Amino acid sequence: MKITILGTGSATPSLSRSSSSCLLSTSAGNILIDAGPSVVRRLLESGHEVGDIDIIVLTHFHPDHTVDLATLLFACNYGERQRQKELHLIGGRGIRLFFRRLSRLYPWVVPLDYRLTIRAVPQGTVRIGSVSLVTAPMAHRDESIGVRIEERGKSVVFSGDTGYAPALAALAARADLLVVECSFPEQEVWGHLNLPTLLTIVREATPRRVIMSHLSPAWEGFHGVLPAPLLLGEDGLTMDL
Ligand SMILES: [Zn+2]
Ligand SMILES: [Zn+2]
Repeated sequence: MKITILGTGSATPSLSRSSSSCLLSTSAGNILIDAGPSVVRRLLESGHEVGDIDIIVLTHFHPDHTVDLATLLFACNYGERQRQKELHLIGGRGIRLFFRRLSRLYPWVVPLDYRLTIRAVPQGTVRIGSVSLVTAPMAHRDESIGVRIEERGKSVVFSGDTGYAPALAALAARADLLVVECSFPEQEVWGHLNLPTLLTIVREATPRRVIMSHLSPAWEGFHGVLPAPLLLGEDGLTMDL
């Protein structure tokens, strides 16, 4: 599996950090985790096209995680090449209603010539080819999910937005990589993590590596030292597992 960190930002628009999003290249295809503003642009910057995406996972419906879904689906119909291969859309509770409402607002996102398979998986496992996606509810919104993706004995976990959640520690247990929100160095905000709470989760889950994402502007003035295995994420970072 190859991971490309497309964005590491929060709801605050930033030139250096696009909305939090990752691209995961697997033998079952390319998986896009979240699609907030400017994620499609970051996808192009990473050398990929909209048509390369096979599976989209939305961790929840906040605009900083979903706005570019419309951009992407519109391009599947009216971009350079009309999409024909199947596209999977996976989310938590309400993902079908979310898509129905989106298509009422933007009828042009309804597939013209390809199959869009939408699955609501608030807690469970989906297998696509040789890849399994395991979801669990996170502490942020009713529909929020974290997702663990496994292939050939390697595992990567994406938290989406969340506060402290025992389910996150369980989902991330001994993962090869945890890509986790850590919105603030110190500030306590319900539904988000800060550094001390993230360290608690890392002690419980013992992932091999951790990339911190969903970084608010508060991080720009951070001059502390992060203990291993934590790494402050940067847009464009890539890693092979
Ligand atoms: Zn959110
Ligand atoms: Zn967010």
